[in-house]
Amino acid sequence: LFVDQPLADGITILIEGGQAHYLSGVMRLKAGDAIALFDDVSGEWRAEIEQVAKRHVQLRVTARLREREDVPDLWLVAAPIKKGRIDWVAEKACELGVARWQPVITHRTIVDKLNLDRLRAHMIEAAEQCERTALPILDEPMKLAKLLGNWPAGRALIFADEEGGVPMAQAVKPGPAAILIGPEGGFTDEERSAIKAVPQAVGVSLGPRILRADTAMAAAVSLWMGLAGD
Ligand code: SAM
Repeated sequence: LFVDQPLADGITILIEGGQAHYLSGVMRLKAGDAIALFDDVSGEWRAEIEQVAKRHVQLRVTARLREREDVPDLWLVAAPIKKGRIDWVAEKACELGVARWQPVITHRTIVDKLNLDRLRAHMIEAAEQCERTALPILDEPMKLAKLLGNWPAGRALIFADEEGGVPMAQAVKPGPAAILIGPEGGFTDEERSAIKAVPQAVGVSLGPRILRADTAMAAAVSLWMGLAGD
């Protein structure tokens, strides 16, 4: 369970609201049971339930189970897509081990505002499910031109190009990387040439078919993780 407060040995934690209901009502936990907590800072801890009340659950942190993990230094730079599917992207980016998700606004991006709180909640839920102890960083959306203009020198820009590119195996090199995925309408020709003008950019193909943007994200990140090793 994610707790948004620093964890340490021996401290008492009070869980309230929906999380308390989940522990007592759904998981039916009772005093004496133990669960795992993480705070996205100090790793994962064992905590024992001291008291289950109607509106809260009191726990005592007893031992550290794992250090906060080092996730591979992969950024997902993806144009936001429509509501139902972008929640899925948030979940899969977390499960697949992305370190950071930088939403990028391109000419054909149809989604104009993002509910970052809702996306972060989906990431927290996914982290609890896949037992990540480090949450992905979720940035404010940024315009593509601004992003390309300040592209970090040491970071590979792996550009998923539905018009063709090298296989991922040829694009993956040791070191920090980012995977760039376009919106439902794809990139414009101007955007494509601006991306290719970035020295660190390499265009990759994800196969001969046009994938949905969310499919492309999951496919590209999985391929990279499988090759870069996480
Ligand atoms: N331009 C496409 C069209 O005409 O339907 C739409 C773009 S596609 C739905 C969304 C994004 O997924 C693309 O911008 C690209 O980043 C990625 N993508 C989709 N299929 C791909 C493929 N076969 N290889 C590489 N990237 C792909």
